Amino acid sequence: MKKSRIKKKKGGNTKNAKRNPNFNTHQLSRTIPDEIKQQIRQNSKFGCVVPNCREAFYEYEHIIPEFKDAKEHNPDKMCLVCPTHNPRRTGKKGQENFSKEDIAGFYTVIRSSESVPEARSESFFYGLKRNPTIIIGNSSFINIESIINIDGRNVFSFITNNFEDPLSPQVTFFGFFQDSLGNELLRIENNQWFSPSTHWDVITTNGEVKIWDSSQKLVFHARKLPKMNSIEIVELNMWAAPFHIKIIDGNLSAGRLSKDGREYVYLSVSADYAWGKCGLYLNSNDYFQRPVISDIEMKGGKGTTMVGSGIWFGKGAGRMQLRNVKLYSSSNIKSAPNPLKPKKTILPPSDANYFVKGILTTKILPFYMWEEKVFELNGQSLDYEPMSWGQINEEGENLYYISRDEPADLATNVGFVGFYANDLLKYEWADRVFEAEVEEFDSEGNSLTIRVKRANINGRKVLSEVNSETQEYYHPHQFGCISPWINTTALP
Ligand SMILES: [Zn+2]
Repeated sequence: MKKSRIKKKKGGNTKNAKRNPNFNTHQLSRTIPDEIKQQIRQNSKFGCVVPNCREAFYEYEHIIPEFKDAKEHNPDKMCLVCPTHNPRRTGKKGQENFSKEDIAGFYTVIRSSESVPEARSESFFYGLKRNPTIIIGNSSFINIESIINIDGRNVFSFITNNFEDPLSPQVTFFGFFQDSLGNELLRIENNQWFSPSTHWDVITTNGEVKIWDSSQKLVFHARKLPKMNSIEIVELNMWAAPFHIKIIDGNLSAGRLSKDGREYVYLSVSADYAWGKCGLYLNSNDYFQRPVISDIEMKGGKGTTMVGSGIWFGKGAGRMQLRNVKLYSSSNIKSAPNPLKPKKTILPPSDANYFVKGILTTKILPFYMWEEKVFELNGQSLDYEPMSWGQINEEGENLYYISRDEPADLATNVGFVGFYANDLLKYEWADRVFEAEVEEFDSEGNSLTIRVKRANINGRKVLSEVNSETQEYYHPHQFGCISPWINTTALP
Protein backbone atom coordinates (compact mmCIF):
# COMPACT_ATOMS: atom_id res chain seq x y z
CA MET A 1 0.00 0.00 0.00
CA LYS A 2 2.73 2.41 0.93
CA LYS A 3 4.57 1.72 -2.27
CA SER A 4 1.57 2.45 -4.43
CA ARG A 5 0.94 5.73 -2.58
CA ILE A 6 4.52 6.83 -3.21
CA LYS A 7 4.14 6.00 -6.90
CA LYS A 8 0.97 8.02 -7.09
CA LYS A 9 2.68 10.99 -5.49
CA LYS A 10 5.54 10.85 -8.00
CA GLY A 11 3.13 10.73 -10.87
CA GLY A 12 1.36 13.76 -9.53
CA ASN A 13 4.63 15.69 -9.32
CA THR A 14 5.65 15.07 -12.97
CA LYS A 15 2.32 16.47 -14.08
CA ASN A 16 3.05 19.62 -12.10
CA ALA A 17 4.19 22.36 -14.51
CA LYS A 18 6.78 23.55 -12.00
CA ARG A 19 8.67 20.30 -12.41
CA ASN A 20 8.29 19.99 -16.20
CA PRO A 21 11.75 20.54 -17.73
CA ASN A 22 10.15 22.18 -20.78
CA PHE A 23 8.98 25.10 -18.65
CA ASN A 24 10.71 27.31 -16.12
CA THR A 25 9.28 28.43 -12.80
CA HIS A 26 7.54 31.33 -14.56
CA GLN A 27 5.70 28.90 -16.86
CA LEU A 28 7.85 30.05 -19.80
CA SER A 29 8.22 27.31 -22.40
CA ARG A 30 11.66 26.35 -23.71
CA THR A 31 10.16 26.45 -27.19
CA ILE A 32 11.03 29.79 -28.76
CA PRO A 33 8.51 31.12 -31.30
CA ASP A 34 9.86 31.20 -34.88
CA GLU A 35 9.56 34.97 -35.28
CA ILE A 36 11.55 35.53 -32.07
CA LYS A 37 14.23 33.12 -33.30
CA GLN A 38 14.43 34.98 -36.56
CA GLN A 39 14.87 38.29 -34.75
CA ILE A 40 17.67 36.76 -32.68
CA ARG A 41 19.41 35.42 -35.81
CA GLN A 42 19.17 38.79 -37.52
CA ASN A 43 20.40 40.64 -34.42
CA SER A 44 23.30 38.20 -34.02
CA LYS A 45 24.08 38.35 -37.76
CA PHE A 46 23.62 34.59 -38.11
CA GLY A 47 26.50 33.37 -35.99
CA CYS A 48 27.99 33.19 -32.50
CA VAL A 49 28.36 36.74 -31.17
CA VAL A 50 31.80 36.17 -29.63
CA PRO A 51 34.34 38.25 -31.59
CA ASN A 52 36.13 36.33 -34.35
CA CYS A 53 34.08 33.21 -33.67
CA ARG A 54 31.00 33.66 -35.90
CA GLU A 55 30.34 29.92 -35.71
CA ALA A 56 27.01 29.16 -37.40
CA PHE A 57 26.46 25.96 -35.44
CA TYR A 58 24.75 27.66 -32.51
CA GLU A 59 22.11 27.74 -29.80
CA TYR A 60 19.52 30.40 -28.95
CA GLU A 61 20.56 31.52 -25.49
CA HIS A 62 18.92 33.63 -22.82
CA ILE A 63 21.71 35.89 -21.55
CA ILE A 64 20.46 38.17 -18.78
CA PRO A 65 18.23 37.03 -17.22
CA GLU A 66 19.01 33.34 -17.67
CA PHE A 67 16.24 31.06 -18.86
CA LYS A 68 15.35 29.94 -15.33
CA ASP A 69 14.57 33.53 -14.37
CA ALA A 70 13.10 34.74 -17.67
CA LYS A 71 9.41 35.61 -17.98
CA GLU A 72 9.47 36.01 -21.77
CA HIS A 73 11.54 35.28 -24.87
CA ASN A 74 12.86 38.76 -25.47
CA PRO A 75 15.15 39.02 -28.53
CA ASP A 76 16.94 41.94 -26.88
CA LYS A 77 18.02 39.63 -24.08
CA MET A 78 18.81 36.55 -26.14
CA CYS A 79 21.50 35.86 -28.71
CA LEU A 80 23.26 33.13 -30.70
CA VAL A 81 26.22 31.42 -29.10
CA CYS A 82 28.12 28.39 -30.27
CA PRO A 83 28.49 25.37 -27.95
CA THR A 84 32.06 26.40 -27.13
CA HIS A 85 31.03 29.86 -26.00
CA ASN A 86 27.81 29.03 -24.22
CA PRO A 87 28.21 30.68 -20.79
CA ARG A 88 26.11 27.99 -19.13
CA ARG A 89 28.96 25.58 -19.77
CA THR A 90 31.67 27.89 -18.48
CA GLY A 91 34.10 26.11 -16.27
CA LYS A 92 32.50 22.71 -16.55
CA LYS A 93 34.73 21.43 -19.30
CA GLY A 94 37.48 24.01 -19.13
CA GLN A 95 36.13 25.94 -22.12
CA GLU A 96 36.76 29.61 -22.73
CA ASN A 97 35.40 31.61 -19.91
CA PHE A 98 33.02 34.34 -21.00
CA SER A 99 30.44 35.50 -18.48
CA LYS A 100 26.83 36.33 -19.29
CA GLU A 101 27.83 40.00 -19.00
CA ASP A 102 30.64 39.49 -21.56
CA ILE A 103 28.24 37.82 -24.00
CA ALA A 104 25.68 40.62 -23.53
CA GLY A 105 28.42 43.15 -24.32
CA PHE A 106 29.44 41.27 -27.50
CA TYR A 107 25.78 41.14 -28.55
CA THR A 108 25.42 44.92 -28.20
CA VAL A 109 28.52 45.47 -30.35
CA ILE A 110 27.49 43.06 -33.12
CA ARG A 111 23.96 44.48 -33.32
CA SER A 112 25.17 48.03 -33.84
CA SER A 113 28.07 47.18 -36.14
CA GLU A 114 27.70 47.86 -39.86
CA SER A 115 30.33 45.41 -41.07
CA VAL A 116 30.33 42.13 -39.26
CA PRO A 117 32.51 39.21 -40.38
CA GLU A 118 30.66 36.46 -42.23
CA ALA A 119 29.05 33.65 -40.30
CA ARG A 120 30.93 30.43 -40.94
CA SER A 121 30.90 26.75 -40.13
CA GLU A 122 32.51 23.51 -41.12
CA SER A 123 30.41 20.99 -39.26
CA PHE A 124 28.16 20.65 -42.32
CA PHE A 125 30.90 18.75 -44.14
CA TYR A 126 31.97 16.53 -41.26
CA GLY A 127 31.92 12.81 -41.83
CA LEU A 128 31.53 12.69 -45.60
CA LYS A 129 33.35 9.80 -47.23
CA ARG A 130 34.95 9.34 -50.62
CA ASN A 131 32.77 9.14 -53.73
CA PRO A 132 29.96 11.28 -52.34
CA THR A 133 26.72 11.75 -54.25
CA ILE A 134 25.58 15.32 -54.77
CA ILE A 135 21.86 15.69 -55.32
CA ILE A 136 20.59 18.92 -56.85
CA GLY A 137 16.81 18.98 -57.21
CA ASN A 138 15.93 15.67 -58.86
CA SER A 139 19.39 15.14 -60.35
CA SER A 140 22.25 13.20 -58.87
CA PHE A 141 25.95 13.47 -59.50
CA ILE A 142 27.91 10.44 -58.41
CA ASN A 143 31.56 11.15 -57.79
CA ILE A 144 31.75 14.02 -60.26
CA GLU A 145 34.25 16.38 -58.69
CA SER A 146 33.45 19.49 -60.73
CA ILE A 147 29.73 19.71 -59.98
CA ILE A 148 29.21 23.19 -61.45
CA ASN A 149 31.86 24.66 -63.74
CA ILE A 150 31.83 27.95 -65.65
CA ASP A 151 34.41 28.62 -68.35
CA GLY A 152 36.76 26.06 -66.86
CA ARG A 153 36.47 27.49 -63.31
CA ASN A 154 34.96 25.39 -60.57
CA VAL A 155 31.94 27.05 -58.97
CA PHE A 156 30.98 24.08 -56.84
CA SER A 157 33.40 21.19 -56.53
CA PHE A 158 35.25 18.82 -54.27
CA ILE A 159 38.53 16.99 -54.27
CA THR A 160 39.18 13.52 -52.94
CA ASN A 161 41.97 13.38 -50.38
CA ASN A 162 44.47 10.60 -49.98
CA PHE A 163 45.23 11.18 -46.32
CA GLU A 164 46.21 7.96 -44.59
CA ASP A 165 44.75 9.17 -41.31
CA PRO A 166 41.11 7.94 -41.29
CA LEU A 167 40.09 10.94 -39.16
CA SER A 168 41.20 13.48 -41.78
CA PRO A 169 38.58 14.71 -44.26
CA GLN A 170 38.22 12.26 -47.13
CA VAL A 171 36.70 14.91 -49.38
CA THR A 172 37.21 18.69 -49.40
CA PHE A 173 34.55 21.01 -50.83
CA PHE A 174 34.85 24.40 -52.55
CA GLY A 175 32.14 26.71 -53.81
CA PHE A 176 31.16 30.25 -54.66
CA PHE A 177 27.52 31.22 -55.14
CA GLN A 178 26.33 34.72 -56.08
CA ASP A 179 23.02 36.54 -56.27
CA SER A 180 21.69 38.47 -59.25
CA LEU A 181 23.66 41.58 -58.31
CA GLY A 182 26.94 39.70 -58.09
CA ASN A 183 26.90 39.69 -54.27
CA GLU A 184 28.18 36.65 -52.48
CA LEU A 185 25.50 34.27 -51.23
CA LEU A 186 27.71 31.54 -49.90
CA ARG A 187 31.37 30.63 -50.18
CA ILE A 188 32.93 27.27 -49.38
CA GLU A 189 36.65 27.01 -48.77
CA ASN A 190 38.27 23.81 -47.60
CA ASN A 191 35.03 22.44 -46.17
CA GLN A 192 34.29 25.65 -44.32
CA TRP A 193 31.35 27.72 -45.49
CA PHE A 194 30.94 31.50 -45.08
CA SER A 195 27.80 33.56 -45.49
CA PRO A 196 27.57 37.38 -45.40
CA SER A 197 25.85 39.12 -42.50
CA THR A 198 23.82 41.22 -44.97
CA HIS A 199 21.35 38.45 -45.85
CA TRP A 200 17.77 38.73 -44.71
CA ASP A 201 18.01 35.40 -42.91
CA VAL A 202 20.28 32.38 -42.57
CA ILE A 203 19.15 29.30 -40.66
CA THR A 204 21.66 26.64 -39.75
CA THR A 205 20.66 23.57 -37.88
CA ASN A 206 22.52 20.32 -37.59
CA GLY A 207 23.26 19.23 -41.17
CA GLU A 208 21.14 21.91 -42.82
CA VAL A 209 21.72 25.41 -44.23
CA LYS A 210 19.04 27.80 -45.52
CA ILE A 211 19.73 31.27 -46.91
CA TRP A 212 17.26 34.03 -47.76
CA ASP A 213 18.76 36.90 -49.75
CA SER A 214 18.12 40.57 -49.06
CA SER A 215 14.92 40.43 -51.12
CA GLN A 216 13.64 37.79 -48.64
CA LYS A 217 13.71 34.97 -51.21
CA LEU A 218 14.93 31.51 -50.24
CA VAL A 219 17.94 31.17 -52.52
CA PHE A 220 19.84 28.27 -51.01
CA HIS A 221 18.84 25.23 -49.02
CA ALA A 222 21.15 22.27 -48.56
CA ARG A 223 21.14 19.31 -46.22
CA LYS A 224 23.51 16.50 -45.47
CA LEU A 225 22.33 12.90 -45.79
CA PRO A 226 25.06 10.99 -43.93
CA LYS A 227 23.58 7.52 -44.46
CA MET A 228 23.71 8.07 -48.22
CA ASN A 229 27.11 9.82 -48.06
CA SER A 230 25.36 12.63 -49.83
CA ILE A 231 24.66 16.34 -49.88
CA GLU A 232 21.27 17.38 -51.19
CA ILE A 233 20.66 20.87 -52.55
CA VAL A 234 16.93 21.38 -52.27
CA GLU A 235 16.78 25.02 -53.33
CA LEU A 236 19.23 26.93 -55.49
CA ASN A 237 18.96 30.32 -57.15
CA MET A 238 22.32 31.69 -58.20
CA TRP A 239 23.69 33.90 -60.92
CA ALA A 240 26.95 34.04 -62.82
CA ALA A 241 26.45 36.49 -65.65
CA PRO A 242 25.27 35.74 -68.28
CA PHE A 243 24.00 32.54 -66.64
CA HIS A 244 21.30 31.80 -64.09
CA ILE A 245 21.17 28.48 -62.24
CA LYS A 246 17.96 27.55 -60.48
CA ILE A 247 15.97 24.53 -59.39
CA ILE A 248 12.63 24.84 -61.14
CA ASP A 249 9.94 22.25 -60.37
CA GLY A 250 12.68 19.94 -59.12
CA ASN A 251 14.68 20.18 -62.34
CA LEU A 252 18.14 21.64 -62.21
CA SER A 253 17.91 24.45 -64.75
CA ALA A 254 20.47 26.67 -66.34
CA GLY A 255 19.49 29.81 -68.20
CA ARG A 256 21.41 32.15 -70.42
CA LEU A 257 20.57 35.72 -71.30
CA SER A 258 19.55 35.91 -74.92
CA LYS A 259 21.60 37.93 -77.34
CA ASP A 260 19.08 40.74 -77.46
CA GLY A 261 19.26 40.97 -73.67
CA ARG A 262 15.50 40.64 -73.26
CA GLU A 263 15.04 37.19 -71.80
CA TYR A 264 16.71 34.13 -70.43
CA VAL A 265 16.41 30.80 -72.21
CA TYR A 266 16.62 27.72 -70.03
CA LEU A 267 17.63 24.11 -70.36
CA SER A 268 16.10 22.14 -67.53
CA VAL A 269 17.09 18.53 -66.88
CA SER A 270 16.55 15.77 -64.35
CA ALA A 271 19.09 13.01 -64.68
CA ASP A 272 21.65 10.84 -62.95
CA TYR A 273 25.25 11.36 -63.92
CA ALA A 274 28.19 9.29 -62.83
CA TRP A 275 31.92 9.09 -63.12
CA GLY A 276 32.75 12.11 -65.15
CA LYS A 277 34.61 15.34 -64.71
CA CYS A 278 31.82 17.86 -65.00
CA GLY A 279 28.18 17.95 -63.85
CA LEU A 280 26.84 21.26 -65.15
CA TYR A 281 29.24 23.00 -67.49
CA LEU A 282 28.57 26.55 -68.68
CA ASN A 283 30.64 28.11 -71.42
CA SER A 284 30.15 31.84 -71.93
CA ASN A 285 32.33 31.64 -75.02
CA ASP A 286 29.95 29.40 -76.91
CA TYR A 287 28.44 31.06 -79.90
CA PHE A 288 24.92 32.02 -78.92
CA GLN A 289 22.99 32.04 -82.11
CA ARG A 290 19.36 32.73 -81.42
CA PRO A 291 17.43 34.64 -78.77
CA VAL A 292 14.80 31.90 -78.64
CA ILE A 293 14.83 28.29 -77.66
CA SER A 294 16.69 26.13 -80.11
CA ASP A 295 17.58 22.47 -80.47
CA ILE A 296 18.84 20.10 -77.85
CA GLU A 297 21.53 17.54 -78.48
CA MET A 298 22.45 14.52 -76.42
CA LYS A 299 25.73 12.81 -77.08
CA GLY A 300 27.34 10.01 -75.15
CA GLY A 301 30.27 11.32 -73.14
CA LYS A 302 29.55 14.88 -74.25
CA GLY A 303 26.34 15.44 -72.36
CA THR A 304 23.12 17.29 -73.05
CA THR A 305 23.16 20.79 -74.50
CA MET A 306 20.87 23.43 -75.90
CA VAL A 307 22.69 24.11 -79.16
CA GLY A 308 24.62 27.33 -79.06
CA SER A 309 23.67 28.26 -75.50
CA GLY A 310 26.90 27.18 -73.84
CA ILE A 311 24.86 25.11 -71.34
CA TRP A 312 25.96 21.50 -70.92
CA PHE A 313 24.65 18.94 -68.47
CA GLY A 314 26.80 15.90 -67.76
CA LYS A 315 29.63 16.97 -70.01
CA GLY A 316 32.19 14.22 -69.99
CA ALA A 317 30.05 12.05 -67.69
CA GLY A 318 30.73 8.36 -68.05
CA ARG A 319 27.07 7.56 -67.49
CA MET A 320 23.99 9.68 -67.98
CA GLN A 321 20.38 8.61 -67.39
CA LEU A 322 17.90 11.27 -68.43
CA ARG A 323 14.44 11.44 -66.96
CA ASN A 324 13.10 14.84 -67.81
CA VAL A 325 14.33 17.47 -70.26
CA LYS A 326 12.61 20.82 -70.77
CA LEU A 327 13.39 23.92 -72.76
CA TYR A 328 11.74 27.21 -72.07
CA SER A 329 12.32 30.92 -71.92
CA SER A 330 11.51 33.48 -69.33
CA SER A 331 10.73 37.06 -70.11
CA ASN A 332 9.44 37.83 -66.63
CA ILE A 333 12.73 38.15 -64.80
CA LYS A 334 12.34 41.90 -64.47
CA SER A 335 14.64 42.13 -61.47
CA ALA A 336 17.44 40.33 -63.25
CA PRO A 337 20.46 42.38 -64.23
CA ASN A 338 21.25 42.64 -67.88
CA PRO A 339 24.95 41.93 -68.17
CA LEU A 340 24.96 42.43 -71.92
CA LYS A 341 23.32 45.84 -71.86
CA PRO A 342 25.82 48.33 -73.25
CA LYS A 343 26.86 51.09 -70.88
CA LYS A 344 26.98 53.54 -73.76
CA THR A 345 24.60 53.57 -76.63
CA ILE A 346 27.06 52.85 -79.42
CA LEU A 347 25.26 50.14 -81.27
CA PRO A 348 26.59 48.89 -84.56
CA PRO A 349 24.04 48.75 -87.33
CA SER A 350 22.68 45.24 -87.59
CA ASP A 351 24.33 44.67 -90.96
CA ALA A 352 27.76 46.03 -90.10
CA ASN A 353 30.98 44.35 -89.14
CA TYR A 354 33.27 46.37 -86.98
CA PHE A 355 36.78 46.85 -85.68
CA VAL A 356 38.26 46.73 -82.22
CA LYS A 357 41.84 47.46 -81.30
CA GLY A 358 43.52 45.78 -78.42
CA ILE A 359 45.16 42.55 -77.42
CA LEU A 360 43.79 39.11 -78.08
CA THR A 361 44.43 36.29 -75.65
CA THR A 362 43.78 32.68 -76.43
CA LYS A 363 43.21 30.24 -73.63
CA ILE A 364 43.04 26.49 -73.69
CA LEU A 365 40.62 25.14 -71.14
CA PRO A 366 41.87 21.69 -70.19
CA PHE A 367 39.41 19.01 -69.25
CA TYR A 368 39.78 15.43 -68.39
CA MET A 369 38.85 14.15 -71.82
CA TRP A 370 38.89 17.24 -74.05
CA GLU A 371 40.13 20.77 -74.31
CA GLU A 372 38.52 23.92 -75.61
CA LYS A 373 39.98 27.07 -77.13
CA VAL A 374 38.49 30.38 -76.00
CA PHE A 375 39.28 33.92 -77.08
CA GLU A 376 39.27 37.17 -75.16
CA LEU A 377 39.79 40.60 -76.59
CA ASN A 378 40.83 43.20 -74.01
CA GLY A 379 39.54 40.80 -71.40
CA GLN A 380 36.14 40.40 -72.99
CA SER A 381 34.96 37.04 -74.24
CA LEU A 382 34.51 36.59 -77.96
CA ASP A 383 32.09 34.15 -79.46
CA TYR A 384 34.79 32.97 -81.81
CA GLU A 385 38.17 33.83 -83.25
CA PRO A 386 38.39 37.22 -85.02
CA MET A 387 38.24 36.96 -88.80
CA SER A 388 41.57 38.70 -89.31
CA TRP A 389 43.83 41.27 -87.75
CA GLY A 390 46.99 43.30 -88.14
CA GLN A 391 49.44 45.04 -85.84
CA ILE A 392 49.02 48.80 -85.54
CA ASN A 393 51.74 49.86 -83.11
CA GLU A 394 55.00 48.84 -81.43
CA GLU A 395 53.15 47.96 -78.21
CA GLY A 396 51.77 44.91 -79.93
CA GLU A 397 48.25 46.24 -80.20
CA ASN A 398 46.31 44.85 -83.10
CA LEU A 399 43.28 45.92 -84.99
CA TYR A 400 40.77 43.09 -85.11
CA TYR A 401 38.10 42.57 -87.65
CA ILE A 402 35.13 41.36 -85.60
CA SER A 403 32.09 39.53 -86.75
CA ARG A 404 28.69 41.15 -86.59
CA ASP A 405 27.60 38.18 -84.49
CA GLU A 406 29.75 39.20 -81.55
CA PRO A 407 27.99 40.68 -78.53
CA ALA A 408 26.95 44.27 -79.08
CA ASP A 409 28.78 45.43 -76.00
CA LEU A 410 32.06 45.00 -77.81
CA ALA A 411 31.05 48.29 -79.37
CA THR A 412 31.46 49.92 -75.98
CA ASN A 413 34.86 48.36 -75.54
CA VAL A 414 37.63 50.92 -75.08
CA GLY A 415 39.32 49.64 -78.21
CA PHE A 416 36.29 50.09 -80.36
CA VAL A 417 37.15 51.97 -83.54
CA GLY A 418 34.26 52.13 -85.92
CA PHE A 419 32.14 50.32 -88.38
CA TYR A 420 33.82 51.01 -91.66
CA ALA A 421 37.25 51.80 -92.97
CA ASN A 422 36.14 55.39 -93.43
CA ASP A 423 36.41 55.64 -89.66
CA LEU A 424 39.74 53.86 -89.51
CA LEU A 425 41.38 56.24 -91.93
CA LYS A 426 41.28 59.05 -89.38
CA TYR A 427 43.82 57.29 -87.20
CA GLU A 428 47.54 57.93 -87.46
CA TRP A 429 48.10 54.22 -87.86
CA ALA A 430 45.74 53.99 -90.79
CA ASP A 431 48.56 53.06 -93.13
CA ARG A 432 49.01 49.92 -91.10
CA VAL A 433 45.45 48.85 -91.60
CA PHE A 434 45.61 45.46 -93.17
CA GLU A 435 42.13 45.04 -94.41
CA ALA A 436 39.05 47.17 -94.19
CA GLU A 437 35.67 47.93 -95.54
CA VAL A 438 34.79 51.11 -97.32
CA GLU A 439 31.49 52.45 -98.46
CA GLU A 440 31.08 52.79 -102.19
CA PHE A 441 28.27 53.75 -104.51
CA ASP A 442 27.40 51.97 -107.69
CA SER A 443 26.33 53.67 -110.94
CA GLU A 444 22.76 53.86 -109.71
CA GLY A 445 23.80 55.49 -106.47
CA ASN A 446 23.23 52.42 -104.28
CA SER A 447 25.49 52.13 -101.29
CA LEU A 448 27.82 49.13 -101.27
CA THR A 449 30.38 48.01 -98.76
CA ILE A 450 33.63 46.89 -100.29
CA ARG A 451 36.34 45.03 -98.47
CA VAL A 452 39.88 45.94 -99.42
CA LYS A 453 43.39 45.01 -98.40
CA ARG A 454 46.18 47.38 -97.46
CA ALA A 455 48.65 47.88 -100.25
CA ASN A 456 51.43 50.04 -101.46
CA ILE A 457 50.92 50.52 -105.17
CA ASN A 458 53.48 52.42 -107.16
CA GLY A 459 54.61 54.11 -103.97
CA ARG A 460 51.10 55.17 -103.03
CA LYS A 461 49.66 53.99 -99.77
CA VAL A 462 46.22 52.71 -100.26
CA LEU A 463 43.82 53.42 -97.41
CA SER A 464 45.76 56.36 -96.03
CA GLU A 465 46.39 58.68 -98.93
CA VAL A 466 44.26 61.73 -99.50
CA ASN A 467 43.24 62.73 -102.98
CA SER A 468 44.58 66.29 -103.29
CA GLU A 469 41.70 67.31 -105.55
CA THR A 470 38.86 66.17 -103.33
CA GLN A 471 40.65 66.12 -99.93
CA GLU A 472 38.98 62.73 -99.47
CA TYR A 473 40.72 59.44 -98.93
CA TYR A 474 41.33 57.52 -102.08
CA HIS A 475 38.92 54.75 -102.62
CA PRO A 476 40.14 51.58 -104.29
CA HIS A 477 38.87 52.16 -107.78
CA GLN A 478 40.45 55.60 -107.87
CA PHE A 479 43.84 53.96 -108.13
CA GLY A 480 42.81 52.65 -111.47
CA CYS A 481 43.58 49.02 -111.05
CA ILE A 482 41.69 45.96 -110.03
CA SER A 483 44.38 43.93 -108.34
CA PRO A 484 45.08 43.64 -105.43
CA TRP A 485 41.62 44.74 -104.40
CA ILE A 486 39.36 42.22 -102.96
CA ASN A 487 35.80 43.04 -103.64
CA THR A 488 33.91 40.26 -102.02
CA THR A 489 31.67 41.57 -99.35
CA ALA A 490 28.84 43.64 -100.59
CA LEU A 491 26.85 43.05 -97.45
CA PRO A 492 23.28 41.92 -97.70
ZN1 LIG B 1 31.52 30.94 -30.53
